[in-house]
Amino acid sequence: QAHLDAIAALNPRLNAYITVTPELAAAQAAEADAALARGEAGPLAGIPLAIKDLFCTAGTRTTAGSRILGDFVPPYESTVTGNLLRDGAVFLGKANLDEFAMGSSNTSSAFGAAENPWKRQGDDTALVPGGSSGGSAAAVAARLALGATATDTGGSIRQPAAFCGVSGIKPTYGRCSRFGIVAYASSLDQAGPVARTVEDCAILLGSMAGFDPRDSTSADVAVPDFAAAVARGVKGLRIGIPREYRVEGLSPEIDALWRQGMDWLRAEGATLVDISLPHTKYALPTYYIVAPAEASTNLARYDGVRFGLRENGEDLKDLYERTRAAGFGDEVKRRILIGTYVLSAGYYDAYYVKAQQVRALIKRDFDQAWAQVDAILTPATPTAAFGRDENQDDPVAMYLNDVFTITANLAGIPGMSVPAGLDGKGLPLGLQVLGRPFDEETVFAVGG
Ligand code: GLN
Repeated sequence: QAHLDAIAALNPRLNAYITVTPELAAAQAAEADAALARGEAGPLAGIPLAIKDLFCTAGTRTTAGSRILGDFVPPYESTVTGNLLRDGAVFLGKANLDEFAMGSSNTSSAFGAAENPWKRQGDDTALVPGGSSGGSAAAVAARLALGATATDTGGSIRQPAAFCGVSGIKPTYGRCSRFGIVAYASSLDQAGPVARTVEDCAILLGSMAGFDPRDSTSADVAVPDFAAAVARGVKGLRIGIPREYRVEGLSPEIDALWRQGMDWLRAEGATLVDISLPHTKYALPTYYIVAPAEASTNLARYDGVRFGLRENGEDLKDLYERTRAAGFGDEVKRRILIGTYVLSAGYYDAYYVKAQQVRALIKRDFDQAWAQVDAILTPATPTAAFGRDENQDDPVAMYLNDVFTITANLAGIPGMSVPAGLDGKGLPLGLQVLGRPFDEETVFAVGG
C-alpha cells in the first residue's frame, strides 16, 4: 500500500508506470500473507515489483510502449514473470519503456516520456531516465517499487540503471527465458532485474532465471545462488581494463570514475590487467544493422489482422498500411526501414552478412580476453542523464549512448551496471562489470 500511495503521488510527474494494478497487487499480497501464515512463503513473498511493459502478463494490458498494442491483453504469462509470481512477488503495474524497447531515453513511448527522479543541482530541467527500461529504473530510484524487471538488447537495463543511480544486470544470453517477452531483436534480447542494490539484483535474478523448454535459446544450465556470490569479494581476481573503451570524447568525470573503480578493486585485492578488445569500434555499426534487421522481421506480425490495433482499409494491403502507419512511432518505422534495407536481396551480403561476421570477431575478442582476466571493468555510459529535449533530432547521437553496453549483447555475455558516484552536477554515474558466459557470480562479486 505504501508503494501504491507513492505511485499515486509521484507517477503523474514521473510517468514511470503505464498501467498501475492496485487490485491485482492487493490480491497477490493477500496470497503472499496466506503463504507466510502456512509457512510456505517463497523467497520473494510480498515483494512489490514493477514489470516492464514488454513482459506479457496474463489478464493485464501489455503495450510494449506502442499504440499498435495499446489494447492488447495477453492470455498468457511470460516465463520470467511467472517465475516471480511462483516465488511470491507482488506486481504493482507495468513500467514505461521506449516503443518496442527501441531507444535510450524513454522518449519514444506512445504513452509519453518517463522522467528521471534525479535533477541537476540548482536546475529544474526534466532529465531522461535512460532507456529503453526507463520506467523500471525511474520506479526503483523513486521508491515506486522495490525492484523491477527489465530487458536489455543493447544496454536497456544497464544505461537506465546508471542514469537513475540504481543497479541492473543483463545476464548471459539464454539465462532467462524470452518466452512471453515482446521480441525486439531475438538474438540480443535478454531479461534481467533492476534494483537498488547488487544483492537485490542477485536475489531477483535467481528467481527470474532458469531453463524453459518454451524458448529454444534458453540454456539448460543450473541457476547458482547469485546472492551468495555478492559477498565473495574480489581477492585474487584479475580484472581487465580494455584500452579501446577509452573512447574519444570520454568526459574527464567518467574517466575519473573509472579510475576510482580500479582503485577500489585494487584495494580489495584484485589485480588489474590492461587488455585489448580490438573490434570494439565496430560494435555500434554492427548492432545497428543486426538489431533493426531482426526487429523488421519480428515486427512483421503486427499487421492488424490477428491482434492489436486495426485500422480498416479498402483491401488487405491497405489495412496493413493504415494499421502500421497509425500504430508505429517514428523510431520504430526508422528501424523497420533500416532492417528491411539491410536484409534486401541487393544489400544482404554487404550489410547483414558482413555485420554477422564482425559480430563473430567481437565475440572472439572476449573469448581471448577470458584467458587473461576473470571480469572486465568499464564505464556504463559515456555521459550522465541528459535533458529530455537533447539528442532528439539526431538519432546517431542517441545511438552513441550504447557504445559501452552493446558489445555484451553482441557477444552474449553478462554485464552489470553499478552506481559508483555522482558527477559535478550531482547526477549519478555507473560502472559496468562484464563477465564470462554463465559466470554472473563473478560479476556479482565484483559489483558487490
Ligand atoms: N538503445 C538501444 C536501442 O535503441 C538499446 C535498446 C535496448 O537495449 N532495448 O536499440
